[in-house]
Amino acid sequence: MNPILTMFISLIATSGVFTVFLCIYAYLKRKDIPGAYTFIIYTAVQAIYIFAHAFEMASDTLAQVKGWTMIEYIGIAGAPAIGLLIVMQYVGINMNRKRISLLFVIPTLTFIIVITNDFHHLFYKSMYFRENTPFLTTDTVIGQYYIVHGAYTFGCMLAAVVLLLRRWRQTKKAYRLQLLTLMAGQFLPMTGAFVYLMGVTPYGVDPVPMLLCVTSAMYIWAIVSTKMLTVIPIAKESIFESMREGVVVLDFADRLIDFNGAMIYMFPGLSTQMLGLTLDEAWIQLSGTPFPVERSQDGEQVEMVWRNTAGREFYYQIRSSVVRGRNGDPIGSLLMLIDVTEQHLLQDQLEQLAYYDGLTKLFNRTEFLRRSKSLLTEMQRDNLPLSIILFDIDHFKNINDTYGHDVGDLAIQHVVAIVKRLEAEAPEALIGRYGGEEFVIALPGCSLEQAAILAERIRAQLAAESMSGSFGTMSVTASFGLSQAGSGQFELSGKAGQTLESLLRDADIALYQAKRAGRNQVRVFEPQAASPLLT
Ligand code: GH3
Ligand code: MG
Ligand code: MG
Repeated sequence: MNPILTMFISLIATSGVFTVFLCIYAYLKRKDIPGAYTFIIYTAVQAIYIFAHAFEMASDTLAQVKGWTMIEYIGIAGAPAIGLLIVMQYVGINMNRKRISLLFVIPTLTFIIVITNDFHHLFYKSMYFRENTPFLTTDTVIGQYYIVHGAYTFGCMLAAVVLLLRRWRQTKKAYRLQLLTLMAGQFLPMTGAFVYLMGVTPYGVDPVPMLLCVTSAMYIWAIVSTKMLTVIPIAKESIFESMREGVVVLDFADRLIDFNGAMIYMFPGLSTQMLGLTLDEAWIQLSGTPFPVERSQDGEQVEMVWRNTAGREFYYQIRSSVVRGRNGDPIGSLLMLIDVTEQHLLQDQLEQLAYYDGLTKLFNRTEFLRRSKSLLTEMQRDNLPLSIILFDIDHFKNINDTYGHDVGDLAIQHVVAIVKRLEAEAPEALIGRYGGEEFVIALPGCSLEQAAILAERIRAQLAAESMSGSFGTMSVTASFGLSQAGSGQFELSGKAGQTLESLLRDADIALYQAKRAGRNQVRVFEPQAASPLLT
């Protein structure tokens, strides 16, 4: 055999062996290589082609050449489509079986036409040995179908390159070399084939079988070294789905594009059939009302309350952000719903502890003073009156001494229940537990006369409604002292700009008078009467 021919055949066989190694490598590492099976099939058909080509070169007769050519076409016909599939998987396009089958219609046809060429000569019209060559080299005159095969091969390559180019911008710089390598992997065999067809390769030898092992190596390097890239879309998807926070994606017209599993958990009525509806339309289907919160500004945080079918309340903090397209223009928005129900409950508890009295649930003294102080300022600014009712349970010590502290507590609650009932008629009223069994009501915008009417009603109701329990039945009464700040009071007392402290002091004086006068009565503060008492 011609030594040059021997050299080429050896080179091609080496390329074949290398390709088989890559195939085995991909099989052994299949768990670490995304789309490993496609790559295994790719290298397998390439190996078939490469070895068949080596045998073709070693053939002595045209019949042998034809036979090996048929086997070569398992690789030549199939490889472009498989190469395209590899690239598709690399960029994250997953195709179903039907579409994959469609991709192989032309390669299958090509293979059938090649093996039946003798009957129709559609693939090549004739095949002959080249003259004046140092060793047997086959030449063919191509037939019509060869154009289909050529166009399809080129089409697959172009499609793969376009997919890779589209990926370019989204790909981090560190991974762009891999994209380039994959593109080069598409061009390399094509370039080899061109050079060969132009007849400028040494001794007219087809360089493609020798190049293919390089292409395969380039593919596997790119795929293995960018495993992360393929993982990212999957990771993003699984993060989206496994998030505890609800996420809603809306388009520019506020239509539902996507939402995650957490959203369905939070709002069980939500279904994928609602995709395409505006958020408000979907929410009306879900709860009868439009989406309860405004969401205009980027990064804005608002809170919404959701009552489930069992009537339980949930609080969600909503963070909205603008979703921008590749050119930076806003194309939609993203809402993230964070369940803050527990924090709300905790906050409520802390508020209860900080602002309210445990036994009566009324404002504690500090909170009452804080709130009534600002109420007083408000009333003074608007030149409106503010009245104070201070009352104290009569002979409370007796109740404690006779029935025990627990019954004392019950008596306090009994009094508060009656006060709250009547206070419902004065919705602006502010009630606080001023001391042990001493209470205070601030009535903004209320004259002393109106306050006196309310106080009298409370007093009468307390006296009328006795309290009963295992201890028997007893009547709990209270004494009331009233004072007022505001227009009327200025004229009466002659002092302007009264403070809350002076008001409470006045009410206390009136209360003292009520106690002195025999308890279970209402007394209004009178400055004239107060003077001798104070001195
Ligand atoms: P008066 O008619 O003059 O008001 O007589 P009183 O016995 O009610 O006298 P005073 O208002 O001074 O009584 C306050 C008593 O209330 C003292 C304290 O032991 C009792 N007390 C204060 N806070 C509580 C409480 O939370 N529960 C109970 N059971 N008793 C309390
Ligand atoms: Mg008392
Ligand atoms: Mg008291």
